[in-house]
Amino acid sequence: MTDALAPGATIGILGGGQLGRMLSVAASRLGFRTHIFEPGSNPPAGHVANHVTTANYGDHAALEAFAASVDVITFEFENIPTAALDVLEAHRPIRPDRESLRVSQDRLTEKEFLSGLGLHVAPYENIENFKDLEAAVEKIGTPSILKTRRFGYDGKGQARLRSAEDAKQAFSDIQGAPAVLEGFVNFSHEVSVIAARGLNGEIACFDPGENVHKDGILSTTTVPARLTRAQRTDAVLLAANVLNALEYVGVMGVELFVTPQGLIVNEIAPRVHNSGHWTQNGCAIDQFEQHIRAVVGWPLGDGSRHADVVMENLIGADMNRVPEIAKEANAALHLYGKADVKPGRKMGHVNRVKAP
Ligand code: AMP
Repeated sequence: MTDALAPGATIGILGGGQLGRMLSVAASRLGFRTHIFEPGSNPPAGHVANHVTTANYGDHAALEAFAASVDVITFEFENIPTAALDVLEAHRPIRPDRESLRVSQDRLTEKEFLSGLGLHVAPYENIENFKDLEAAVEKIGTPSILKTRRFGYDGKGQARLRSAEDAKQAFSDIQGAPAVLEGFVNFSHEVSVIAARGLNGEIACFDPGENVHKDGILSTTTVPARLTRAQRTDAVLLAANVLNALEYVGVMGVELFVTPQGLIVNEIAPRVHNSGHWTQNGCAIDQFEQHIRAVVGWPLGDGSRHADVVMENLIGADMNRVPEIAKEANAALHLYGKADVKPGRKMGHVNRVKAP
């Protein structure tokens, strides 16, 4: 384990949401300390971390002090400003690295990268102005989806076009931001692979999960997913291909559409992923520990699945069901300690476990 950090070292995490929280818990189980950098007050990750810095990404003095206090830096979200990365990188390694962030921060760059690897993506066109959109609709047709190139998540920054007449409304919905128009993929279902690559290049993938979205937000992930043996192998190999191409270090979520013509990559997320939460109760080493192991230079854990799991997100008022869920057998609750319940806000999740 050359370059490996020993227990007692400090892991800096950019972002203090639920992903940062669960990373922090996993780090502490291995004896590491954590330091969260987060602009918002009272972040969920702060409740379970050793230190919290409350500052904006434009506060270079705070970034420098944060970097100086940690041994390695990782993150729970991909939209970290470039200038902040410049400051941090001068002091400590950032894992996954900047190239992985650059590729996945921008839907156009991401699609070009994935196509360049020979992977299949939805038909797409770059949209910089309304004229581009008209030409793209002509080419790709409808139904199609206009997606902002940056800052989209949970279905935000997206507008659907049922017919060419919807173009004006869609363009105004995304406020004319740089975008891509994507052809609608007629998929039978959606799956994702949570894949990890270690500092020494080893790769471990979790079993693909099957995802159901409601209102653009992940609702459930079920393992095992409905996949043939060949599709399962394809899914894992293509994820490994992506990680190798980026010389990636850490956990990545690779979202796929299953179609009769094969697997189509929807998007990649350079971080632990909501669709990997089932691993907390379905594997000896979950995605959070796997990510920590990768970024501190430890060997990756064995991610084999030892149970069937259905993960259900608890969103907004779903929190009212917690007392009932708490009575269920084999239902592991994971709540994020968020102060305010808001519609569409991820408050926690439950993993319902069944031995295979
Ligand atoms: P995204 O933010 O790109 O992950 O999109 C959110 C959800 O919208 C996906 O999980 C799909 O259910 C749906 N979606 C996105 N892009 C497409 C597409 N090109 N064709 C069909 N459905 C899509």
